[in-house]
Amino acid sequence: MSNEEQENSKVNALETIVAPRVCSLCNIPEQEVLVEYQRWKLVRTKTMKGHRERLMLLHKNHLRTLDEGSVGEAYLLLMKAGSKFFSYTDKWAIFEPVYATVPGHWHRVASDLEENAQDYDQILKTPRMIIDNHDGTISRVYPDGNVPGPSNKAS
Ligand SMILES: [Zn+2]
Repeated sequence: MSNEEQENSKVNALETIVAPRVCSLCNIPEQEVLVEYQRWKLVRTKTMKGHRERLMLLHKNHLRTLDEGSVGEAYLLLMKAGSKFFSYTDKWAIFEPVYATVPGHWHRVASDLEENAQDYDQILKTPRMIIDNHDGTISRVYPDGNVPGPSNKAS
């Protein structure tokens, strides 16, 4: 087994940790939950950062990593809900958690692409999935100079 493979299996391993009392995602007030799914919650983020809409989908359990199937389910739910909540705009995005403030609890943030938003500079530096509400296309955007190499195959 190569080092790379060992790293991958480590990343893919499910980790269950006892939820710390300080985890803000484990302690979201019920009134902030927009949609509750079997294994997920959709909430409006506390800080809107100048966006009209900014959402977060999080797993109900305090898990750092999820298996591929669960990640796929999460993106599907977020895309479906987002097409409704972001219907006022042409394009919106789901962000990779490179700037996540709670990295120990799996979640994904989605927002519109308002150029005057406070975090627009950060948005441009974040790998993101852009969803076009009109033609339904989805495109992945990587920050400049961080384009994945040919070894990073799409599955
Ligand atoms: Zn948590």
